[in-house]
Amino acid sequence: MSNETLSNLLNEERRFEPPAQLAAAANVTADAYARADEDRLAFWEAQANRLSWAQPWNEVLDWSNPPFAKWFTGGKLNAAYNCVDRHVEAGYGDQVAIHFEGEPGDTRTITYADLQREVSKAANALTELGVRTGDRVAIYMPMVPETVFAMLACARIGAPHSVCFAAFSAEALRTRIEDASAKLLITVDGYNRRGAVANLKPNADAAADGATTIEKVLVVRRTGHEVPWNADRDVWWHELVDRQSDQHTPEAFDAEHPLFILYTSGTTGKPKGILHTTGGYLTQVAYTHHAVFDLKPETDVFWCTADVGWVTGHSYIVYGPLANRATQVMYEGTPDTPHQGRFWENIQKYKVSILYTAPTAIRMFMKWGDDIPAKFDLSSLRLLGSVGEPINPEAWIWYRQNIGAGRTPIVDTWWQTETGGIMISPLPGVTTTKPGSAMRPLPGISANVVDKDGDIVPNGGGGFLVLDKPWPSMLRGIWGDADRYRDTYWSRFAEQGYYFAGDGAKKDNDGDLWLLGRVDDIMLVAGHNISTTEVESALVSHPAVAEAAVVGAKDETTGQRIVAFVILRGGQVEDAALDSALKDHVSKEIGPIAKPKQIQFVAELPKTRSGKIMRRLLKDVAEDRALGDTTTLTDASVMDLIASKLPHAG
Ligand code: ATP
Ligand code: MG
Repeated sequence: MSNETLSNLLNEERRFEPPAQLAAAANVTADAYARADEDRLAFWEAQANRLSWAQPWNEVLDWSNPPFAKWFTGGKLNAAYNCVDRHVEAGYGDQVAIHFEGEPGDTRTITYADLQREVSKAANALTELGVRTGDRVAIYMPMVPETVFAMLACARIGAPHSVCFAAFSAEALRTRIEDASAKLLITVDGYNRRGAVANLKPNADAAADGATTIEKVLVVRRTGHEVPWNADRDVWWHELVDRQSDQHTPEAFDAEHPLFILYTSGTTGKPKGILHTTGGYLTQVAYTHHAVFDLKPETDVFWCTADVGWVTGHSYIVYGPLANRATQVMYEGTPDTPHQGRFWENIQKYKVSILYTAPTAIRMFMKWGDDIPAKFDLSSLRLLGSVGEPINPEAWIWYRQNIGAGRTPIVDTWWQTETGGIMISPLPGVTTTKPGSAMRPLPGISANVVDKDGDIVPNGGGGFLVLDKPWPSMLRGIWGDADRYRDTYWSRFAEQGYYFAGDGAKKDNDGDLWLLGRVDDIMLVAGHNISTTEVESALVSHPAVAEAAVVGAKDETTGQRIVAFVILRGGQVEDAALDSALKDHVSKEIGPIAKPKQIQFVAELPKTRSGKIMRRLLKDVAEDRALGDTTTLTDASVMDLIASKLPHAG
């Protein structure tokens, strides 16, 4: 990416200061940056002390063999004990850990004492099934409390879990099971989605049939419908787990003991088994959850709407919030069942004070219309978060106005499966935010923007986002593939020793960071680098547009031409006049070079289950070629619809 991108960037001048009341009582204040800069390792050591350790560490960071980091070496702890037992021991057993809301409206209230019993029983059950410390357990589960019990039970006995999205196919599950050689598969009969039962067991069976390492399949009964049963392999959760003792003594494991493997969502290619370990990971997710969400365990109700099968669910439903003794909401279903106000109804019902969701959801709510959230009492909200993609400034403003009543701070959090926890984000009591900017690295985290030679760009410059110092929750590798770990993340800027995140970014004149999307998505039009994020944000800033995805398709004269796929807001009519109005709008906002050659109005965009737009598939359509791998798509039929609307790309 070159500097010409930058002069094109939208000129965003709106500024939002932290509310005085929040700032006055904030968990983390501005001095944290200076303290962390002064002595980064001492800073993280202090954060590690939020946890309960069975044995203290000898060394904070061992970086003698980069890029393989070890944090808190010699220390021992149990992640499940930290997320559950210690809160009960401290007298908070009656505090609600999870308000579960099923899609059909059934509810469960799980206190920390309940959680301790359920996790202990599940840990005893895993042991009875022959799972030992170090064995891998695959979890193919939807958004139900047993998913959390299962993950924590694994952590409790030191068996790394590998959670696979419930929406993934049997084949996607099988390849993940085989890659990790998982011994046990935990699944459900089915779950509720869009008012119907999603039948999961046949997929689990097909995956287990093909994956030779699986010995047993432990099945939670959620929907109660009839499912195929293999008596040699299948075990009902309610039969095995319920008869176990609810006492279980957690063993302390080494800080570097593997906690989980999580396969990246596969937006760009073959999924990678990202490995996370225990001490550093738990330290960073607990600290960042405390700092970024300003959680007050006595009064807040936290709701992260991510699926637990995504890293956001691991770090900000399970490990971060529970380590911090949060009370949270867990919701099984979709935002539009039985009506498009379901999220807002949940917030009203549970008095949610902190909401963490994704730009893709926000743009969908914009499309559905402002009148829907307006019908609910959202006055309990005091903080809003965003994760997953760059948030378009207009979506940011809509979120603040319509959900946050124009008063809640928004934390736009940049991070990845690989980083384990949040890396770049405002601090809600400190940062004056700019809509669309993730602002700056958190205290104790170091990031920068470099050019293609690895030289740091000055303020006002743009290039590649790098992480230039190790951080506690960094991935420890790719499961079983040390070379791929080095090649993927550390070879691009090997000389400087930087971790290459794969994302483009710019630094504005104040040095604040603006994420520009994946480097692979950057378009090259007539010799100019243009980021998809910029063009999409320009389109979304037009009042008729709810969501846009832009790709660069091969073009004989200009190298690439910009093709935009646009979803309109409710009530808008797609016609030639709007087509040219949108093209002119982009031209006016960014410059004539960024004007889309072609605009295609669509009803849906292809997305991964984590809600990210899969631009490579749109590019396949725009270039009129067979689609690449669609296995991680939420709904593959979306592509047929789009392709049928775009018979010829040229
Ligand atoms: P794969 O690596 O397999 O293609 P993925 O990158 O989609 O999958 P994740 O680790 O869930 O899987 O996503 C991390 C990526 O999401 C980041 O690298 C970045 O591109 C994007 N992202 C996440 N949060 C933000 C944010 N706040 N602003 C901009 N981009 C974000
Ligand atoms: Mg990625």
